Amino acid sequence: MNDFLTVIGAGLAGSEAAWQAAERGVRVVLYEMRPVVSNPVHKTENCAELVCSNSLGNNHAHSAPFILKEELRSFNSIIIASGDKNSVPAGSALAVDRDLFSQEITEKLASHPNITLKREEIVEIPQEGPVIISTGPLTSPKLSEQISKLIGQEYLYFYDALSPIVNADSIDYDKAFFASRYDKGDADYLNCPMSEEQYYKFIRELKAAEKVQFASFEKPVYFEGCMPIEVLVDRGDRTLAFGPLKPVGLPDPKTGKIAYAVVQLRRENRDSSAYNLVGFQTKLTYPEQKRIFSMIPGLENAEFFRLGAIHRNTFINSPSLLTNELELKSHPGNYFAGQITGVEGYVESCAMGLLASLSAVAKISGQSFAPPPTDTALGALINYLTTSRSKGFQPMNINFGLFWVQDMKIRDKKMRNEKIAMNALEKIKEWKDGLSIPVRS
Ligand SMILES: Cc1cc2nc3c(=O)[nH]c(=O)nc-3n(C[C@H](O)[C@H](O)[C@H](O)COP(=O)(O)OP(=O)(O)OC[C@H]3O[C@@H](n4cnc5c(N)ncnc54)[C@H](O)[C@@H]3O)c2cc1C
Repeated sequence: MNDFLTVIGAGLAGSEAAWQAAERGVRVVLYEMRPVVSNPVHKTENCAELVCSNSLGNNHAHSAPFILKEELRSFNSIIIASGDKNSVPAGSALAVDRDLFSQEITEKLASHPNITLKREEIVEIPQEGPVIISTGPLTSPKLSEQISKLIGQEYLYFYDALSPIVNADSIDYDKAFFASRYDKGDADYLNCPMSEEQYYKFIRELKAAEKVQFASFEKPVYFEGCMPIEVLVDRGDRTLAFGPLKPVGLPDPKTGKIAYAVVQLRRENRDSSAYNLVGFQTKLTYPEQKRIFSMIPGLENAEFFRLGAIHRNTFINSPSLLTNELELKSHPGNYFAGQITGVEGYVESCAMGLLASLSAVAKISGQSFAPPPTDTALGALINYLTTSRSKGFQPMNINFGLFWVQDMKIRDKKMRNEKIAMNALEKIKEWKDGLSIPVRS
């Protein structure tokens, strides 16, 4: 057993894992294959690059994603601290300027005295542990093969989808208007209202549009929260009007009336020079995206900085493979973290990076490690990964359904959530105080 930690992949999970160990005085060698080897989704060589939405999710007090972020804040998470510092207005979500966000994380990691950042593709898993494998949904093919051999079974997979980004200067602001739903918070979203006629014409075109075909070996399995727009349309003509295009609480300030449907755009960066189309993940061909999305009122002349796409995602069957210390049962010393464990989302991936790191640091220090209690967000996630039924195991993001909740007779949902949140934050503090692993003075 080495006295240093190897982390493979400097994404959301690997960056957090390296940071947490280094801050506890443990030497870390962090491998990142970019820019030497690239993939179809990452665009920079930065650590913790956000590949799709620039949102780190809901930050509204007492929501489940908020609790997870608060727990991570209590551990001085590098991801959340950088998110807070480089945030852009986005209502109750924590959205960030993606470049400032990942540049700051890269600089902090590269300059940390305990971290050696190596730009190298790992194709063989090091024999000597502890090793954290946090190579994400787009783990390089060579390493995927090695992981397959290590776990002794085939990967599971499903698909994720990217939504398009438009140049803010190309939007027609005579048609699009700024507003937040029900006037809650600042008017951070840009809204493109559609009449009934425009909506159904749009739906007809979406249905008939040319889509990129899946390769013969690919079987489309989507994560419910990231459904391609054309898949939603296939569920019924009005699905979008009741889903991502729902107009409620968004009256057009020019007419005072609620449109039949509203396409919402969210700021991509701090200087508001780009907006992404919320919920518009898609597998339409690029020319079809340009043609059909330009039918959206206000986007007739839109310049697309990026078009939508769908990519394969990779995750292991954690319930059958991992202990609740995120260590491979069959090969102790090998830990998994991030999306590859079967959590879904940036913050959830970062959370697993934190826990795998604390677990590996405990091993290096000869201490025991027990995961956080299941009435905390961190504990609820690790519990999901390791105690779910292995058959049909699917990735999951943080939600109240995962928390262990003591029987409480509070019917008011807001009060109930507040109680769960307060309990979780108290419990995570106790757990943190009880950890016997070193903390840098
Ligand atoms: C197309 C797509 C869109 C997504 N959209 C969203 C979204 O909008 N919101 C959201 O919350 N989540 C989204 N996700 C999920 C997202 O990937 C995760 O939430 C998050 O990035 C996962 O973090 P991670 O650290 O596990 O992996 P990553 O952030 O992908 O980091 C893995 C790192 O490992 C590196 N790597 C891979 N193989 C090797 C190797 N052999 N050697 C060395 N380095 C290697 C990669 O270059 C990468 O930097 C999306 C995923 C995909 C694929």
